Amino acid sequence: MSKESWGYQPRNQRPEPDWETNSQTDAVRAGLSRTGFGETSEALFLTSGFTYSSAQEALDSFTDQTDHFLYSRFHNPTVEVFEKRLAAIEGAEYAHSFSSGMAAVFASLACLVEAGDHIVASAAMFSSCHVVITEILPKWGVTYELVKANDLGAWEKALSKPTKAVFIETPSNPLMEITDIRAVSELAHKVGATVIVDNVMASPIFQRPLELGADVVMYSATKHIDGQGRVLAGALLGSFSYIQEKLVPFTRHTGPSLSAFNAWVLLKSLETMEMRVTQMNASTQKIAEYLESRSEIKSVRYPGLASHPDAAVIKKQMTGGGTTIGIEFKGSQKDAFKFMDSLRIIDISNNLGDSKSLITHPSSTTHRRLSPEVQAGMGITPSVVRLSVGLEHVDDLIKDIDQALKS
Ligand SMILES: *Cc1c(COP(=O)(O)O)cnc(C)c1O
Repeated sequence: MSKESWGYQPRNQRPEPDWETNSQTDAVRAGLSRTGFGETSEALFLTSGFTYSSAQEALDSFTDQTDHFLYSRFHNPTVEVFEKRLAAIEGAEYAHSFSSGMAAVFASLACLVEAGDHIVASAAMFSSCHVVITEILPKWGVTYELVKANDLGAWEKALSKPTKAVFIETPSNPLMEITDIRAVSELAHKVGATVIVDNVMASPIFQRPLELGADVVMYSATKHIDGQGRVLAGALLGSFSYIQEKLVPFTRHTGPSLSAFNAWVLLKSLETMEMRVTQMNASTQKIAEYLESRSEIKSVRYPGLASHPDAAVIKKQMTGGGTTIGIEFKGSQKDAFKFMDSLRIIDISNNLGDSKSLITHPSSTTHRRLSPEVQAGMGITPSVVRLSVGLEHVDDLIKDIDQALKS
């Protein structure tokens, strides 16, 4: 990360590292901006506005003549530390944060498109992203085409037409479909499209879309970044020209701002994210392998398994399988419900990336908004469940799954 992102303040100035720091160090330190009190932890600026020493200073601030915070809808010191830290971890020029992941998804596209523009997206998508692209934006004259995640021929065909934005969710929620980020980015750039990757399932730890050629990375920070079930948040990361010139002018006036309190919670979360997510990933890998050995289960979808149909692409773009498994049971919705109801540790809940292991029945909850045909196209049948593996001891989780399968 760049030296500027350390942002030390006058009170306890120390020489900045003159070497390229590790992302775990950035996760603890980047963006730190101490007040005159020299506090250890990041300061929480729970304020909506800021004051000026004179009317002239207010004028200068509003005309960008001076570097002064104006209003927390535009920016806030605590929120800014979170954004700088996230950008340093991701290796992005800029980050902008949001009140939720969906606020980030909507803004990522709305700041780019106008009536008559076209979006190409992967067909297997989180249901709210699907609604934004196929229902909300079309009301304003934006057209779309959905493409099977791993079908490069179909991407090539779709991207032979003028396209403003490409939206990729890889791995997809809940069945871990994979899109080749590098190949699709190359195709998209030939027609001048901006490539946005929903990197929620991989987390910043296991996949780096900007290095693979994408232009923008999207996070629901509600998931692994907080990872402890406390706050909703979202973020977009990318270049100066995307974040500062296209996105920020849109968000300043539409107001999907992250609260300073939630940014402060997330700063603490970032310090431990890599450790949490790495541990959860190790447990998920073991559980996925265990599930594959069980005869009650028809298929296990996990990017860390050699049996994944897109294992070759996964090897090129991911460094770990992540913390979520798509499981299809032999049998019906009744069998899936019976299994979920028999669990003693794993909670029934629709979040993911949490320190508590959670299980979801997508077709009746997170994806119920989509028609049965659209669900079927994503492979979401009534016998599919999604398991998000947390930080409990893996032996207890396997015992829990084992006793639930037996019942
Ligand atoms: C949860 C999720 C979102 C939306 O994020 P929120 O913080 O819930 O608004 C978007 N994409 C994916 C893949 C998700 O899992």
